[in-house]
Amino acid sequence: MKKRSERIYPDEQETWPEERLKRYQFRRIKRVLRHAQENLPFYSRRFGAANVDPESVANLEDFSKLPTFNKGDVLREISEKESFATGMEALDPSEPAVLCMTSGTLGTAFLYLPRKWRSLRGDSLARAYRWAGLRSGMRMLMAAPAWHSLAVQETRVVERLGVTCVIPWGTFLPRFSVNFLAALKDIRPAFVSIFLPMLYALLAECRRAEVSPREAFSSVEYLLVVGAPMTPTSRRHLREEIRVRDIFEGLGNPEGLTAMECSYHRGHHVFMDCCYVEIIDPKSGAPAPAGTRGSVVLTSLIPEGSVYIRYDSEDIGEMLPGRCECGRTWPLLEIYDRRANTVQVAGKEIVPYDVRLCLDEVAELRGFPFAVIRARNEMASLSMVIQRPPVEELQQVEARLMSLLSERLGIESNLKWTQHLPERWKGVAVIEERDWEVARV
Ligand SMILES: [Zn+2]
Repeated sequence: MKKRSERIYPDEQETWPEERLKRYQFRRIKRVLRHAQENLPFYSRRFGAANVDPESVANLEDFSKLPTFNKGDVLREISEKESFATGMEALDPSEPAVLCMTSGTLGTAFLYLPRKWRSLRGDSLARAYRWAGLRSGMRMLMAAPAWHSLAVQETRVVERLGVTCVIPWGTFLPRFSVNFLAALKDIRPAFVSIFLPMLYALLAECRRAEVSPREAFSSVEYLLVVGAPMTPTSRRHLREEIRVRDIFEGLGNPEGLTAMECSYHRGHHVFMDCCYVEIIDPKSGAPAPAGTRGSVVLTSLIPEGSVYIRYDSEDIGEMLPGRCECGRTWPLLEIYDRRANTVQVAGKEIVPYDVRLCLDEVAELRGFPFAVIRARNEMASLSMVIQRPPVEELQQVEARLMSLLSERLGIESNLKWTQHLPERWKGVAVIEERDWEVARV
């Protein structure tokens, strides 16, 4: 007989034919739409204003014509109502619930998450953690802060898979890396779920404390990282530095997205049981075909708590063409950055991830901090600043990078070297030209 944690997943759903998956998702979408029309005034009002009757939505194409909204719309509701409750959630005082924050560059909104939401989304996430190697009886170090909806889901994962959970003191800010390192050494977890910038902070703390990363991570078999895209080269180097069996990258957001890499690392399989993802052309709103970048529009398929339907997450992503070698039919998604972090160079839309891919191919620049300098108007060439590596042949390094950028991205670029990026710009990949000039005076 299979162990409980291995019995609970209908794994055959992961390989359903595309048509069957579409029918399944459409049924779930209809259920969410009905719930929204009956119980969520935020949507019934918007559908009314757009003159659409959700009952008449007969297929995914009809659904793709419903109005989208973004975080600005949610923040406006909060400010007008002077309450976290925007009408996107059905409140049920008889059921225990938590209120989580969605922070970020755009502002803070809130999610009302009752127990049923935690069960449904957490069970879906448990599958993702199993893909990443988490098994019953393992000890897992969990790094999501309590205000984040990931922590709510992870507690369910812990229950469902029967693992022991360790939570270090602090949140995922680099200044808490001392505690994280102490927890890692004392508790010896086999699985670590962590925010990627915090992993880098932890490695910096290893260097400062003169502890070898391999020793610090010697008990760890698998790492699951979230929060920022990892390039293939940075994954390879992290694996060599830490010596774990594998490093998985998860994609998600509190509004409903769950997508996860399988062991082939070809992109992130969208979790069809909890979300529906569309990529649309930001100008026309038309669906963008696989292999084309566009805005990521998300619909949560869980009709509990705060419900997001056709939410424009203001991220840039694409559905990757082709099938994954693992045999799963769940589509592959890649998200590159927030739309706010794009720069227009000679008619092309560039995100810092594109530049990072090129930097990582030049051995001397691997992992070095850099930033793109963005002018007020469209730029003819890409302007960037990179922390100067300790090498003699800087001109050769520069020439190699320029030719890679031109070959891969089809753009000209000009580089500035700097001893150090000012502290306030650490981890910031796009700096406005006017701010940069002020700082240089
Ligand atoms: Zn796969």
